[in-house]
Amino acid sequence: MLPSRTFLILVSIVCGSCTALYLAFFSYYKTEEVLAAKGRLALYKSTLESEIERVSYFPYVLSKDAHVIAGTLRKDRQALNERLAEFARRSQLDAIYLMNTDGVTIATSNYNEKNSYLHSNYSFRPYFKEAMKGQVGEFYGIGVTTSLPGLFISAPVYAPNGEIAGVIAMKLNLRRLEEAWMKAGENVLLSNADGIVLLSSNPQWRYKELYDIPPARRDEIKAVRQFDKIQLMKLNWSRTSEDQATVNEVPYLMVKQDLPARQWTLHFFASERSIQVQAWSLLITLIVIGSLIFAAWQVKKTRSIGAALRESQADSADLREANRLLAVEIEDRKQAERRLQRTQDELSRTSRLAALGQLSVSVTHELGQPIAAMKNYLTAAEISQHPPKASLITQMSALVTRMENITKQLRFFSRPGSKEFEPVNLQDVLKGSEELLAVNLKAANVQYECHCPDQAVIVRGNRLRLEQVLTNLMRNAIDAMADEGVPVLTVTISAEKDQGVVRISDCGPGIGQSTIRDLEEPFYTTRASGEGMGLGLAISTEIIKEHGGTIHAENRQPKGAAFIIEVPLEQEVKDA
Ligand code: ADP
Repeated sequence: MLPSRTFLILVSIVCGSCTALYLAFFSYYKTEEVLAAKGRLALYKSTLESEIERVSYFPYVLSKDAHVIAGTLRKDRQALNERLAEFARRSQLDAIYLMNTDGVTIATSNYNEKNSYLHSNYSFRPYFKEAMKGQVGEFYGIGVTTSLPGLFISAPVYAPNGEIAGVIAMKLNLRRLEEAWMKAGENVLLSNADGIVLLSSNPQWRYKELYDIPPARRDEIKAVRQFDKIQLMKLNWSRTSEDQATVNEVPYLMVKQDLPARQWTLHFFASERSIQVQAWSLLITLIVIGSLIFAAWQVKKTRSIGAALRESQADSADLREANRLLAVEIEDRKQAERRLQRTQDELSRTSRLAALGQLSVSVTHELGQPIAAMKNYLTAAEISQHPPKASLITQMSALVTRMENITKQLRFFSRPGSKEFEPVNLQDVLKGSEELLAVNLKAANVQYECHCPDQAVIVRGNRLRLEQVLTNLMRNAIDAMADEGVPVLTVTISAEKDQGVVRISDCGPGIGQSTIRDLEEPFYTTRASGEGMGLGLAISTEIIKEHGGTIHAENRQPKGAAFIIEVPLEQEVKDA
């Protein structure tokens, strides 16, 4: 997978910043190092100069010494030798020696050493020549006798007649300074006007040439045996900038300090690698600190996101719980509404029935007396000698019977329900209804089918009232099938769980979209005027309720209706 553009930009920014920081750190440490080097060089310069200044007047002072002057003339110089030795020891000089005008050493502080200067001729040395001209001579070179380097300073010794009688010279060893530079662990070198390294903390750099030396000058150096047997070679170095150089391919910072009095130059080389290491160390430290801060920030951020997530999860859990409670409450309210609706329905029905009860009291009262009178009248007409026309009597009789039936039905509502319950066999109840409807069944040519179990289905109730219910329902079924070619009425009795069940089915038109609640409304009827009062189902529902049972109606397939009654089974029978 290729890294994304943003990632590449980020990496570039980080790399760029690191490079810029590294360069800034490098420049800072370089400036610091240059300053420190300049300070060190100033110190080394003053140390070197003061070391030379300390002894530079000794030859002049000694040239005025009576013993030295006498030494140029006398043969016995042992006392002078000892005097010079004592002087050299006290002033920490390598040697102090007296030469005659030919350049031969006639007295010296190292008279009793193996490499004594005694009898050696130094007339070829520039410092001798300078002194013979009456001047103070100065020369740095390697001793031809001892092979040790040093700074030679000389002065002429004048005889009492004013003529130069000899030359007094001394040799100062500067290697002590070199050792101090070495101990400090610093790369320092001292070069002369020819660019030849006289002293160096690094022994490999000593007596190397910094610059090209013209052949003529090289011959001069050889003539005065400045470096005696040492083979001068070029130092493998090059300057890369004003303050940078490489020596033997190693990069250094370079600082110079001139010593104009002797045309010498001090060079200080500071390792560039140590500056690079310092710059890298600081950069890496910064990167590590930055990474740690970034990591800590990330951890803090992750924690706060986690906390916010947990909080929002807790909130949503609360919200879910609140929603759930709301849903439960809504369901409770719906149920309460349904209960309320049912109660209201029940109440209005009950109040209608109560009103009907009152109505029936008055109707029966009102109808009772005329009926009785008409009955008496008819009885009288029957027994009189002039009987009325038979058709009138039949009509009136039918009318009266009908009126009586009405009052009988209405009386049901005016009477409180009978509480005289006893174990009743539903098959016995059905038998009673069958007997009552036998004529109707025959007249309507109904095919009657009865499905009853072998054992009795006993419920607790009032046999006559239950009979009234079955009769009502069976009569309704017969009436509903009036237009059917083959009317079939089926009655099934069964015991299901703790209920006695009677199912009355027909093949009539069915009840359509109506429910039992619609049908049981008092005075609801679809029959022609005068054929039904719409009270049968209202009465039947009331009776079944008294028995703690239920009644409901449904359509059959392909056609017809079924009315199902359920009444609780007699307890003892159930338990048996
Ligand atoms: P009525 O028989 O005096 O009309 P009911 O209360 O017994 O009064 O019946 C009310 C109405 O219920 C009937 O008019 C009729 O429309 C309907 N009904 C009752 N039984 C059936 C049935 N078996 N098939 C179709 N409709 C019926």
